[in-house]
Amino acid sequence: MWPDGTRSAASFTFDFDAEEVWIGEDPANADRPGVLSQGTYGAKVAVPQILDVLRRHEVRATFFVPGRVAERYPERVADIVAAGHELAHHGYTHTSPTKLSRAEEESELVRGLEALRAFGTEITGYRSPSWDLSPHTLALLHEHGLSYSSNLMDDIRPYRLAHPRLVEVPISWILDDAAHFWFDGASWTKSIATTATVRQIWEEEFLGIRRLGGACVFTMHPQIIGRPGRLTFLDAFIGFVTGHDDVWVATTAQIASRA
Ligand SMILES: [Zn+2]
Repeated sequence: MWPDGTRSAASFTFDFDAEEVWIGEDPANADRPGVLSQGTYGAKVAVPQILDVLRRHEVRATFFVPGRVAERYPERVADIVAAGHELAHHGYTHTSPTKLSRAEEESELVRGLEALRAFGTEITGYRSPSWDLSPHTLALLHEHGLSYSSNLMDDIRPYRLAHPRLVEVPISWILDDAAHFWFDGASWTKSIATTATVRQIWEEEFLGIRRLGGACVFTMHPQIIGRPGRLTFLDAFIGFVTGHDDVWVATTAQIASRA
């Protein structure tokens, strides 16, 4: 399944949500600068630092970006594209498709595509703002020429979906930084994991997927993984993954192409 004699694959993906994830959680947050500033950190500080880490390791990653974030931070998105990373769809606003009518969902899809295509790069992938798909999502992706989804948790390898041109590149909560590090005003009973804990969880899962010949798709968020202490962890962890010669480190689109 994997090229050049490799036995498994890995992909580093970043959902560049900025403020939109907070507005998507609660529209009233649009008027709360303190809440929004958590997302602004992702755009202002974290993305340049993450690009630096990726450049040092010569790794191409995938950035899933809501259209509105691309419109608000065009220089950041231009930097992502100029560095050779893949740009992929993550809604126009950060709204779950399950909360939208078919017409609203199609409008989000089209506006998001327009915002991203303005950067002159091909957009082939879609990750829903919540990993949730509506009954219409796959048909809409197919109609609008997208070629892969990265939303489902039912496998460890890319596979063909019912819509003939669509491939699924599966993800998992265990490989999502938010599951371990997320904190908000409603999370006071939840503690923030240390990077040592996450390193152990991710190393075990990566080695397990490698043993089974799958694709290890990490989902990270600049505003979460881009905190200063975690950037040190990210740097070391990417080095750990790329240190395995039998693992093909690729963009999510490249992994989709192997299904
Ligand atoms: Zn997101």
